Amino acid sequence: DDRIVIVGAGVGGAQTAAALREHGWTGRLTLLGDEPHPPYDRPPLSKDVLAGKADSTVFDLDWAALDVELLTGRRALRLEGAERIVVTDGGPVHYDHLVAATGASAVPLPGALGVPGVHLLRTVDDALALRAALRPGARVVIVGAGWIGAETATAAAALGCGVTVVEAGPEPLPGALPAELGRLTRDWYAAAGVELRTGSPVAEVEAAAVHLADGTLLEADAVVVGVGARPATGWLGDSGVTLDDHGAVLADARLRTTLSGVHALGDCASFPSGRFGTRLTVQHWDNALHGARTVAADLLGGDGAPYDPVPYFWSEQFGRMVQYAGHHPAADRLLWRGAPEDAGWTVLWLRGDVPVALLAVDRPRDLAQGRRLIERATPLDPAAAADPGTPLKSA
Ligand code: FAD
Repeated sequence: DDRIVIVGAGVGGAQTAAALREHGWTGRLTLLGDEPHPPYDRPPLSKDVLAGKADSTVFDLDWAALDVELLTGRRALRLEGAERIVVTDGGPVHYDHLVAATGASAVPLPGALGVPGVHLLRTVDDALALRAALRPGARVVIVGAGWIGAETATAAAALGCGVTVVEAGPEPLPGALPAELGRLTRDWYAAAGVELRTGSPVAEVEAAAVHLADGTLLEADAVVVGVGARPATGWLGDSGVTLDDHGAVLADARLRTTLSGVHALGDCASFPSGRFGTRLTVQHWDNALHGARTVAADLLGGDGAPYDPVPYFWSEQFGRMVQYAGHHPAADRLLWRGAPEDAGWTVLWLRGDVPVALLAVDRPRDLAQGRRLIERATPLDPAAAADPGTPLKSA
């Protein structure tokens, strides 16, 4: 009987296992992950878990009923492709088909790893440890004004901490959005009573202080480092699975890797986007979910439809729902729908008159409608689309 082994038990791994069973895989199925917990969801960690509204985000999936052999606390160390063996810290595991779903790890600051009071936020254990430090009146310094930094600042401020966010880039969300849009979130920090220091690279982090490159010393009861995540693919070195320059697994349009019998998906993989004409690594939840379905379909001999999603993610920060779909570097211009001072607003990125991306703040309907337009890649009427009072639709 063929055996599928899924390495990495996050949303991508868990959903691959569930989809395989749902669509008829009757062979042996093993899901292994290095965390000591059953598979759980990460997005609530920086939201409800930090806020104290939830302690567990474990998926509501019955592994025994699904006949999935779940091996928690099991770390993959390397892959021996010729023998079809994944070597783990609990011994070798044979596979016929392997799915690499090891996600990403939070990038630490050089020299700050293991320093007391310095936190990363990737796992539920990270979130619970950080939550314990977010006491009213605590001085919290957050390094990085990305998605994680903004959400952590939201939670910490709401819990009564004194929060400072330091960002090396000129505006918040520097990696994700053009500066002219990132700039618009400055007021959100201010209104929440969060001090935001941009253009402020960190020189050094100590147990109770952050030194900025300009000489400023920020005293801190807790430091949170949110400067990005990199693919957790070290275990694939020398395996025959090719990685790209950023360490992501190079997958093809069906999420197959360069090594026979191995697929990859989610935060650890890059794929060729036919839609946007470039290779994408998407470190967002929706990409892991849809990648899981593609991999399961391909393993079951599916229809060969390429994996070519419109990337989507959301972030909840400072009381706002921020949603993004598409890939804006493919655009040649920006179209406003509403104005930044409105309660909610949307920007659309167009290539010609065809929408390729959008960012919606408290405009979930725009997101839903716009995402469909991006999917279909049909032109819209820019004048009509600029009117926030009318639905977003094709020309
Ligand atoms: P992961 O969820 O990272 O799962 C991979 C698993 O593999 C982990 O459990 C890891 O420990 C394990 N692993 C790694 N290496 C090994 C190994 N060698 N052996 C065995 N196991 C291994 N996305 C959004 O779209 N919206 C949000 O609001 C949002 N909020 C987020 C908030 C936080 C705090 C975080 C951390 C992420 C958030 N994300 C959000 C991103 C989203 O959670 C990820 O894109 C998603 O979890 C990726 O799923 P994955 O299965 O690819 O990887």
